[in-house]
Amino acid sequence: MANDKPHATGTVAYGDVDRKVGIEVLRQQGINVEELVEKLIDNAAAEFASTYYYYSILRMYLAGHEDYKEICEDARLEDRQHYELILPRIYELGGSLPYSLHEFADRAGCPAAYLPGTDNGAHPPAEEPTAADILTVLLESERCAIRSWLEICQITAGKDPRTYDLASRILNEEIEHEAWFIELLAMERDGKVRPSGHFRRGFPGEAPYSRNRPFSHGGL
Ligand code: ZN
Ligand code: FE
Repeated sequence: MANDKPHATGTVAYGDVDRKVGIEVLRQQGINVEELVEKLIDNAAAEFASTYYYYSILRMYLAGHEDYKEICEDARLEDRQHYELILPRIYELGGSLPYSLHEFADRAGCPAAYLPGTDNGAHPPAEEPTAADILTVLLESERCAIRSWLEICQITAGKDPRTYDLASRILNEEIEHEAWFIELLAMERDGKVRPSGHFRRGFPGEAPYSRNRPFSHGGL
């Protein structure tokens, strides 16, 4: 019997638009919302700058390896999708993107996936990077992403179901990305079979876990 309607009121005053129940309930669960938002911004920056941007260059240098190019493209577009997926959550939680793209890129929680041989992007590659070199950079980027999103899952588990859901959807794909690049690198570099269970996405950058149409631009 819900005659007393216990959830009709709470700590946020009736009609108050300066505070959010959606945030207050997280504080009541022990979440440090400000700290969480900072981590989400770091992760968003890693998706946008450390991987999406630099994967564009890495993909170009996989010329001649059409299979690697296609898989790199899936990872690239899915990382952009991860940025899109988490962006609204930053604002819901009272955060904001930095007002400078430079500041945003600098605070990324993962190292930039520079093209090998460029001295961290200082110049064009001195010699053509090998596919194995590029796959190694891709692999290690995915590993940083897994660690970063797992941390968000651990902070929010059982306390912030919405952020947890978004982070775990992203984590699902980062784990797949690592497995793909292990498969490719193991064969390319060592001649070893390390299956990922991967075949191909239905379309480039499909993002089967993280695609959220209302948040996504252009439907696809
Ligand atoms: Zn990602
Ligand atoms: Fe990824």
